[in-house]
Amino acid sequence: MSDYVAQLMAQVKAKNPAEPEFHQAVEEVAESVQLVYERHPEYRKAKILERILEPERVILFRVPWVDDHGDIQVNKGFRIEMNSAIGPYKGGLRFHPSVNLGILKFLAFEQVFKNALTTLPMGGGKGGSDFDPKGKSDGEVMRFCQSFMTELQRHVGANTDVPAGDIGVGGREIGFLFGQYKRIRNEFTGVLTGKGLNWGGSLIRPEATGYGAVYFAAEMLATRGQTLEGKTCLVSGSGNVAQYTSEKLLELGAKPVTLSDSSGYIYDPDGIDREKLKFVMELKNVRRGRIHEYADKFKSATYVERNAELDHNPLWSHKAECAFPSATENEINAKDAKNMLDNGVYVVSEGANMPTVPDGVNMFIDKGILYGLGKAANAGGVAVSGLEMAQNSMRYAWTREEVDGRLQLIMKSIHRACVDTAERFGQSGNYVIGANIAGFLKVADSMMDQGVV
Ligand code: NAP
Repeated sequence: MSDYVAQLMAQVKAKNPAEPEFHQAVEEVAESVQLVYERHPEYRKAKILERILEPERVILFRVPWVDDHGDIQVNKGFRIEMNSAIGPYKGGLRFHPSVNLGILKFLAFEQVFKNALTTLPMGGGKGGSDFDPKGKSDGEVMRFCQSFMTELQRHVGANTDVPAGDIGVGGREIGFLFGQYKRIRNEFTGVLTGKGLNWGGSLIRPEATGYGAVYFAAEMLATRGQTLEGKTCLVSGSGNVAQYTSEKLLELGAKPVTLSDSSGYIYDPDGIDREKLKFVMELKNVRRGRIHEYADKFKSATYVERNAELDHNPLWSHKAECAFPSATENEINAKDAKNMLDNGVYVVSEGANMPTVPDGVNMFIDKGILYGLGKAANAGGVAVSGLEMAQNSMRYAWTREEVDGRLQLIMKSIHRACVDTAERFGQSGNYVIGANIAGFLKVADSMMDQGVV
């Protein structure tokens, strides 16, 4: 670690105690940005990174609501408005019991660079609550969302801050949030993305993050003259990103063999085909059940319950060529990374945000595998959110083919920016450095233009 990064990190840790995920995200970017500072000391003098890592605004609020038994519940609500140098704040809302300030700051920080990579005019933000939608009735989720938006509405807007979904926030939650915003503000605007098709949503938005992560993997493979056809793929999670990653893998002739949730994972050596995936979508999106039911239904599969005592996740030890982590942060530890390399994985495209611990990332880079970090590989979701905003502004809707075509072009362009930037800084093939620097430069130049604000 250079003196600059060591000093910066000491300050970040002192000023933002007990936020390990935020420290982890900042350190990774700082390591890349120091290469820029060596060539362009003007950015260092302007304290660009120091300014980017301090949120422009943090909003914390109480979310009281009444459950089905008539009891009062209280949750925390958050919105981090991280950076607006290149556009309105943009980034998802996460509803999960693990949500806290540090997790949302890490996500908002990552979002700034990711959004810059998409080529679209979007700043970075993130928000959410420690509310757990699991096991709640539709009525409880609605009352919670209405209470959450009653406060959030005064801080967001189509030209100010445009939230979307993330873990625990899908079409149902976006609908309840949008309804309450419209009711309070008496205006029908594109204040959220991931909306329903009848009321301003974009085709391909639900699919975009997963499809994008697969397009990114295809681009990485193309640099070696290869395709996804016939490749065995490990996928984690079974939510939005995991489902559409699996769908696109099937379309491109690959074979997904795993899926998981927080209780455990299934391994199906015959492959999760279209019919089985349809079952998963119904299980997770309609019945809101657990992934072990897959193994009850399809005898080719085995279910392995999560074992918190184990020092690794056996999902990552199956033989495969490609891996698509699509559940949550730090789900691949150093031992998992080693197991993946030992078992043949040489393509990793991260649908989740920061799913690999730093030691694991270093192993992937040292081995020279095709490692697409989250802020590049999963940018397809926010990119199509940006396209949803554009369609809302025009009061017009593009066809499925048009949106998917634009998504593919954007993923190609992100991939190209990573490759070219890494090469320009003498780090060919290093997507981490390529993505961090390309994203940083766009935001940094905009901040330089706009003065000390
Ligand atoms: P989702 O639909 O809520 O699905 C999340 C999946 O991950 C579920 O299967 C969930 O299992 C599992 N999971 C969540 N937390 C976990 C934990 N602590 N341990 C083990 N499993 C866990 O969410 P999603 O939208 O697919 O998001 C997945 C990842 O992609 C997140 O890292 C998110 O930030 C990232 N991402 C999403 C988007 C997007 O457009 N949605 C865009 C970019 C990046 P349970 O049901 O048991 O909790």
